[in-house]
Amino acid sequence: MKQKLRIFFRRVSSANQDLTTQIEFDRIYREQCDKEHIVEVNENDTSANKLSIAQRPEMMKIIQLIKEGRVEKLYAYDRTRLFRDYYEAQAFYHTCIEHNVEIIFTSSSNGHIGFTGDIFMEGLLNLFGDIEGKNIARRTREARRKYPSRKFGYIKTEQKTYQKAPEIESALVQFFEEIQQIRSLDLFTPFLNKYRKMLAKTDDYLIRLATDPFYAGYDLYEGEYTLPHVDPFITKETFLQIQGQLNPLIKAYETNINKLLELYIGFPKCGYCLKPLKPRFNSDRSLVYFSCSKGHSKIYYDTFTINKTVVEVIEQIIAKLNVNQLLMDSTNSLKEIRKMIKQAQGETEMLIKETEDTILFSQEGYDKEWNKQDIYQEVLSLQQQYRLYEEELDKKQQLLIENKQLHQLTVNAIENQVALNVKALCDLLINDVRLYEQSIEFDINKCDYILNLDDEIILNPKENIS
Ligand SMILES: [Zn+2]
Repeated sequence: MKQKLRIFFRRVSSANQDLTTQIEFDRIYREQCDKEHIVEVNENDTSANKLSIAQRPEMMKIIQLIKEGRVEKLYAYDRTRLFRDYYEAQAFYHTCIEHNVEIIFTSSSNGHIGFTGDIFMEGLLNLFGDIEGKNIARRTREARRKYPSRKFGYIKTEQKTYQKAPEIESALVQFFEEIQQIRSLDLFTPFLNKYRKMLAKTDDYLIRLATDPFYAGYDLYEGEYTLPHVDPFITKETFLQIQGQLNPLIKAYETNINKLLELYIGFPKCGYCLKPLKPRFNSDRSLVYFSCSKGHSKIYYDTFTINKTVVEVIEQIIAKLNVNQLLMDSTNSLKEIRKMIKQAQGETEMLIKETEDTILFSQEGYDKEWNKQDIYQEVLSLQQQYRLYEEELDKKQQLLIENKQLHQLTVNAIENQVALNVKALCDLLINDVRLYEQSIEFDINKCDYILNLDDEIILNPKENIS
């Protein structure tokens, strides 16, 4: 029997698009076929939206070949390359199924649903407009990975090839050579330190650089695609070796950084301008500190110093906090408050009923504009009042719960010698922390129950970070 044809179909809808991606995607399929049985069909500058099938001679030829039973497989990038019109697509798939033509979408590995061979399913897939939206997004992402508009270390040529940028080439070569030797966190940190300065990039950027297969001339996002238009810095094997070594180091590095960022309190404010401060790193990433960039006195406190101070303050507070008195007072006052609020609520409820009755039994009869009447507005405002009482009561109850927690935490720490739960105590006791050049200021809750708390706590003098 005569061997049947394999058709590779490609289409771009306007002159400024190019077929490169589609050609690259069907390349692996073409390489598996006999050369004599391949037919390549390119529709340039053909919008399937605007032209009917009769106006697409290349497509007409394909259909003719299929009808003659000469086609075995048809390759296209995805559904949208073949047709945009639902009815044309359905007729075409009918013909293919009838003549046992297998359709292969070469972008299937990238999230496009493969040909189902089921006319009903194909109908659905062609109908769903949102699939097209996704396709466009997917194609854009894909194109950006394969043909980025800019890539650090490269110059993009007119012919869409990527050549190494001479001014950065030696630094990047060195970067990739050196990174192959990095096998421990002790080496990774100084490595990042060195290239952060040398390439003027952040740690995140450097990590992305080291984990980007583009520098090996590959797209490995889903499947494996060579990028012949890229002049690689490393081989694929080297790239994979680097990934194997680097993954655990990156994780460990990120864990370290997060640990440095940990504070018992939220981020402190600048004492001078009251601006919330952002954490900053020192150059070897061994410290996180806070400093204000405004023109006043410079403040530098690292997270260790702040945490140490916080613990000291919390210890002093709970040693002097009359927690029993606090709990007794708040329990008693809640009882009082609840009684008052419940009474007020009861009165409001009565008023609501009375007002509603007035509306219901009024002699004036039905009024179209009833919801604009004063009396109805009064009901609304009474209901609002009722809800406010409810909220007020909730708030007071929450306060009592917090005081009970505080009591428990304090008793645990002082009487039962349980390790101090600094974080929980901070939430309950500290409103705000402000940093000054010579001191740290704490805005503290429950001051009325803290006996003789010193205004000043002197700690070991801090060392400035340079
Ligand atoms: Zn400031």
